[in-house]
Amino acid sequence: MSWVYRQGQNLTYLTLPEWEKCGIQIGFSTRWGGVSNAPYESLNLGLHVGDDSEKVLQNRELWFQEWNVAWNDLVIGEQVHDVKVQLVESSDAGRGVRDLRTVLPGVDGLVTTTGLGLMAFFADCVPVYFYHPILKAVSIAHAGWRGTVGKIIIRVLEEFRKMGGEPRECWVALGPSIGPCCYEVDEQVVKPFQEAFEKTPFLKSSRPGHAQLDLWEANRLLLLEEGVRPENIWSASICTACHTDSFFSHRQEGLKTGRMAGWIRRKD
Ligand SMILES: [Zn+2]
Repeated sequence: MSWVYRQGQNLTYLTLPEWEKCGIQIGFSTRWGGVSNAPYESLNLGLHVGDDSEKVLQNRELWFQEWNVAWNDLVIGEQVHDVKVQLVESSDAGRGVRDLRTVLPGVDGLVTTTGLGLMAFFADCVPVYFYHPILKAVSIAHAGWRGTVGKIIIRVLEEFRKMGGEPRECWVALGPSIGPCCYEVDEQVVKPFQEAFEKTPFLKSSRPGHAQLDLWEANRLLLLEEGVRPENIWSASICTACHTDSFFSHRQEGLKTGRMAGWIRRKD
């Protein structure tokens, strides 16, 4: 079983039934069911993209109602296309949820054992979700090309290791994001990957100076190298740029578009 679409009370979203069975709330929103106007129509959950912030907060309220969580049950990081990962404490509850000024600054990955939910925003970048059943820890990371080439997922696994958790016990899910079908990159992106990875089977040359980049495969290979078991990796393999009927896509729609939310929480 992999990711499935679910029609909730008000919104349609993606979730992973196998994770839910273990007491994990996990979701990825689609772009519909919210109140934002074009070009953010309609469930834009990102406060940082130029949309009317009142509308974004109404959209967030819809999202939280769907999951039956309170605003203070979550934490949000800034997301700066870097690889810093932060351990979230109980005292961080509610940070970034109402206001950009209170986000955890400079972080693209969040890890917690507190029972707080972790939320991040996406429009083509790869949402990477982690659940460590022994530590009872969850994590979400924002892995665009910079996060992938900088190997942010290894930073998350290192946080688990510090707490005594091994990668072989860890579950990882990759949500919808831009696929190899739609992600042509130039040498500014190709070169750093060739420098950072010994082999780059996830880069397929397309025309001189360009390649199609498969971020799902790059992250999957990294996870396997680190010792995550193949059967513990769930990849949605849904391309956001191919499906702007369901998702926002930065590549397809340009700078002014909305953001989907990815979120994860261990239900106590
Ligand atoms: Zn595509």
